[in-house]
Amino acid sequence: MLEADQILKVDHSIHQGDIGGHRPRDVVATVTVDSVEQVQEVVRAAAQAGAPLYPLSTGANWGMGSRFPAVDGCTVLDLSAMTRVRVLDLEHGYAVVEPGVTQAQLASALEGSAWMLNVTSSCADTSIVGNALERGDGTVRSRVRETLAFEVVLGTGELLTTGGLDGRGRYHGTVAGPDLTTAFVESNLGVVTAMVVSLVRRPEAIELAHACFEPDAFAELAEVVVRLGRAGLPTVGLPRLRDFFLVPSDAPADSYALPGTADPQQLSLLIPLLGRREEIRLSERLIREALTSVPDAVSFRTLDAETVPAEHPMYYRALMARGIPTCASLRRGLGVSDCQVEDTALAWLMFMPLIPLDRESMVRAVDILRQAVDRHTTALTAEFNIVSPHVANMVVQIAFGRNPESTVRAHALRDEIRTLFAEAGFPTYRSNIDHASSELAIRQDALIAPLGDLKALFDPHGVIAPGRYLTTAAR
Ligand SMILES: Cc1cc2nc3c(=O)[nH]c(=O)nc-3n(C[C@H](O)[C@H](O)[C@H](O)COP(=O)(O)OP(=O)(O)OC[C@H]3O[C@@H](n4cnc5c(N)ncnc54)[C@H](O)[C@@H]3O)c2cc1C
Repeated sequence: MLEADQILKVDHSIHQGDIGGHRPRDVVATVTVDSVEQVQEVVRAAAQAGAPLYPLSTGANWGMGSRFPAVDGCTVLDLSAMTRVRVLDLEHGYAVVEPGVTQAQLASALEGSAWMLNVTSSCADTSIVGNALERGDGTVRSRVRETLAFEVVLGTGELLTTGGLDGRGRYHGTVAGPDLTTAFVESNLGVVTAMVVSLVRRPEAIELAHACFEPDAFAELAEVVVRLGRAGLPTVGLPRLRDFFLVPSDAPADSYALPGTADPQQLSLLIPLLGRREEIRLSERLIREALTSVPDAVSFRTLDAETVPAEHPMYYRALMARGIPTCASLRRGLGVSDCQVEDTALAWLMFMPLIPLDRESMVRAVDILRQAVDRHTTALTAEFNIVSPHVANMVVQIAFGRNPESTVRAHALRDEIRTLFAEAGFPTYRSNIDHASSELAIRQDALIAPLGDLKALFDPHGVIAPGRYLTTAAR
């Protein structure tokens, strides 16, 4: 247990709800800090007392555990009051941000500049640091591709910088020798107190290519998406094959839940196009040609993101493509008017596996989901984010009614598909508080013991986020 006088603020009453219906964790206290020195102080005190800490940036890890630690008995280390944009380098296009800096805050600091932020479709008040540490995906690219460096407080209280960020907070780019930046993504090796994030150069034009299809056309559409993903269009947007709603075949409609925006009759392909106008014209032509081979295309259009009117269904997607974060897509999906989502009527679980970018794997993934949806009489939404020419980050969203029976079914569905996907060779790329501690065992890679050694070195008392991926290795 931490001594109260060693910390800035202890709040035992902070709301601990969870949109995912996970088993509530027993939280000792919530400690809010607003400087690196305070983080060091709290970590040293925790190490001395052997009291585990669970760091959060803005605590909106919705669908994966929200603010709950992975295990019982932690003190939540709330970093949301660390809101400094320490550096905004508009010449070289990067920012050094603290954990409490939100998408809205950085996007507004960039207004009118030559740079913009790659934004997610989660709430505008979610963090950049927490999202990067969870390997999140933005509208334009994966967050991990723009995560350049970290400043970290280790479990010993020492400060470490990675990726060419020096001890004085200046960023030089990655210098000679090994670099540990990605070791802090999806791990519990330390508390991240700052991050260097690469910004997106504001292009001459931004458009959205948007096509809708009958769900039966999925296999043919997957083929085209694979071709486009491998071709590498002369634009930088992240293609998403999305809105694939799978509902139980023979169950009454009131036995499962769907997001407010669901249309199970259509799936869509959304590709933000960012670049010079002539590059966009070329991409648009390539996409249009590729899509002609897909039967049952319902529509194809391109929209200028700058001029999409507010009442248009693609308005919020257009804002996001322009680097303007918006809570609208989250709120519309959950049917709520603000982002206090912990008590919404609709609960929400996420499952995120990595799928090789080929038609056979994508079809297999959907087949597994379709059968599981029937077995658990629970609907879900599937999305493929084409993050590279090699793989897709799949996002499976399971919406369910907030009652004990639906919660059990939704969690059983996620547990089962996680196992089936792992057996099919589709491991998880982003986990949740129930499964994070066993992800490495599923991976079965030879690095587990050395990673445990690193944990023992950086966090010898095991106080940073126990249960979040790494444990000290038993040799
Ligand atoms: C409808 C909906 C849409 C969504 N859309 C997207 C999307 O488009 N893209 C996307 O990526 N996600 C999306 N999400 C998921 C989620 O809301 C976001 O990823 C969000 O950014 C995570 O919350 P956060 O930034 O507050 O991170 P936090 O909850 O603060 O952090 C996430 C985890 O990282 C660890 N952590 C956080 N900060 C630190 C630190 N400083 N040091 C060490 N460890 C730390 C903790 O274990 C924590 O649990 C969506 C969720 C919903 C419900």
